[in-house]
Amino acid sequence: LISQSSNDLNLTFVMDEAVADGMLPKLHEALIDSGAMPVYETRVFGPRWREINGNVRPRPMPWWRAAERRTALRALAAQDTPRYVYHLPTVRERARALNAIAAIDRRYYAIKANSHPAILRALVEQGFGLECVSLGELQRVFETLPELDPERVLFTPNFAPIHEYESAFARGVTVTVDNVELLRRWPEVFRGRALWLRIDLGHGDGHHQKVNTGGKDAKFGLSAQRVDEFVQRARELDVRITGLHAHLGSGIETVGHWKLMVDEMAGFARRIGSVGILDIGGGLPIAYSDDDEPFDLDAWAQGLADIKAVHPAFQLAIEPGRFLVAEAGVLLARATQVVEKDGVRRVGLDAGMNALIRPALYDAWHDIHNLDRLDAQRDGEYEVVGPICESSDVFGQRVKLPSATAPGDVMLIADAGAYGRSMSSEYNLRALPAEDVIDDE
Ligand SMILES: *Cc1c(COP(=O)(O)O)cnc(C)c1O
Repeated sequence: LISQSSNDLNLTFVMDEAVADGMLPKLHEALIDSGAMPVYETRVFGPRWREINGNVRPRPMPWWRAAERRTALRALAAQDTPRYVYHLPTVRERARALNAIAAIDRRYYAIKANSHPAILRALVEQGFGLECVSLGELQRVFETLPELDPERVLFTPNFAPIHEYESAFARGVTVTVDNVELLRRWPEVFRGRALWLRIDLGHGDGHHQKVNTGGKDAKFGLSAQRVDEFVQRARELDVRITGLHAHLGSGIETVGHWKLMVDEMAGFARRIGSVGILDIGGGLPIAYSDDDEPFDLDAWAQGLADIKAVHPAFQLAIEPGRFLVAEAGVLLARATQVVEKDGVRRVGLDAGMNALIRPALYDAWHDIHNLDRLDAQRDGEYEVVGPICESSDVFGQRVKLPSATAPGDVMLIADAGAYGRSMSSEYNLRALPAEDVIDDE
């Protein structure tokens, strides 16, 4: 039995439950991957329900579309590719949007998303503190901003060597610990300190299994079952728990998730007694494709205001990474070869998964454009691949590009400012991409 729903968005198959799991990937392959179902044909499937209702919030116009910026990008690409380019005014704009949320008392930027010095400086100027997860990141922060007040820096490591905690305390930054074993094994490192405690609220969320950082299978955070044990040990060591921290995942869309989180944390904070700050982590999503909607910042702000009214005793802190920098960055690469094989046309780029690993690691989508032919019709369909010797070295399948796309064209991978260069490697001994900053405000 097969039925297509009235909104044209669902195709339903009824089958024996016992075969469903095995059948699903096969159906997907036969119908979608093979191109048998014209799921990408807007003429067949029409607009989405939300579009018909007129309540789609469009994605912001990308900064790099402006004519003079395109020229600037092509000039940079002429020097060498691949290279990342970051637009500082876009970073500042996102920072200002978060600064405008009254319910939030403290804002930190999770620098692992992109630790370029110009970005760190721009965000500190906007009033943000910085959140680090390693000694290397702490060093980057204080090399870039030697005058920065350590009170504006968080150190939130996970399974880090003990000497990194010692260095962080020596620098005077706020350290977050996430297990009681640390206090038991190295009591002298922690005795008499004030610190924040990261707890695992027992559930997580996020855009992919690999970025869900809560729950039994996650290595992060103190189990809620062991909070009393932690508090007891902390008392014995004269350790004061001044903040509670939870970061449950990345790319979290639902407002309800955040409210629940604050509510649960406030419960623990009251039990502990000395806590004044609830740090609800990062995880704000961005819209990577036209099918995604931009994060509803207003609804989020309202949700936080509502829940804060219930728990007025606590300050709220956030530490987003992606939201601040993803849309500010692009990866420029040059098309190397265009090849047809068994009905699939591929464009190769001189950047691969070594330069941007998100598609290979998380099945992440990034829009890809031909910057040299931006005004041409996107009348061809390509798989866009890199030069790395791995079959997962694919940036996107069924990417619409001008059919004139040719070797030498400058290609742009959008929304690559977060977890792009910071996750890149020299795999296959390919050089790390260069980085440029545009500040034309
Ligand atoms: C990675 C990370 C963040 C930032 O996550 P985003 O999804 O980029 O906002 C915040 N806090 C901690 C502890 C993290 O590890």
